[in-house]
Amino acid sequence: MNALSPPDLLFRPMTDPFGRTIRYLRVSVTDRCDLRCFYCMSEDMTFLPKADLLTLEELDRLCSAFIAKGVRKIRLTGGEPLVRRNVMSLVRSLSRHLATGALDELTLTTNGSQLQRFATELADCGVRRVNVSLDTLDPRNSAPSPAGAISTRFWPASKPRAPRASRSRSTRWR
Ligand code: SF4
Repeated sequence: MNALSPPDLLFRPMTDPFGRTIRYLRVSVTDRCDLRCFYCMSEDMTFLPKADLLTLEELDRLCSAFIAKGVRKIRLTGGEPLVRRNVMSLVRSLSRHLATGALDELTLTTNGSQLQRFATELADCGVRRVNVSLDTLDPRNSAPSPAGAISTRFWPASKPRAPRASRSRSTRWR
């Protein structure tokens, strides 16, 4: 049996206990959110201290290490990923792996509340689709988030792809 050298081990693809190669990584960049879906968060949530969170630079290093280990798709999640301060610097940084071809897809799951603000930059960074998890498209059935009213325009009209809602759930908004 051939012994693997340390560099071989470093770049050997990861496999799960069933021998399947791991190509997909979900990364939670924050536990915070601008909404309070009753099934997810209580109104008086206790969030992790910022000191306990990986910095954006550390997240970039971590994701890059996984890409070196064979991950081809990364999904940023939260909480709500777009409420993390300067999160677009992480998206921008990770997009270099799309440019080199090391990464096939960079995407995110979002509640949609911040997409009007970030959609153009996301598209510019190579994000071609997002999953929008929301409970209603009817503003009458939604409540304002602390940051303002929930927008139903999720993507600039000039962009070729509109995000699809991944699922619908019944929610009591607070
Ligand atoms: S939008 Fe998502 S992360 Fe935010 S409170 Fe609702 S279910 Fe939780």
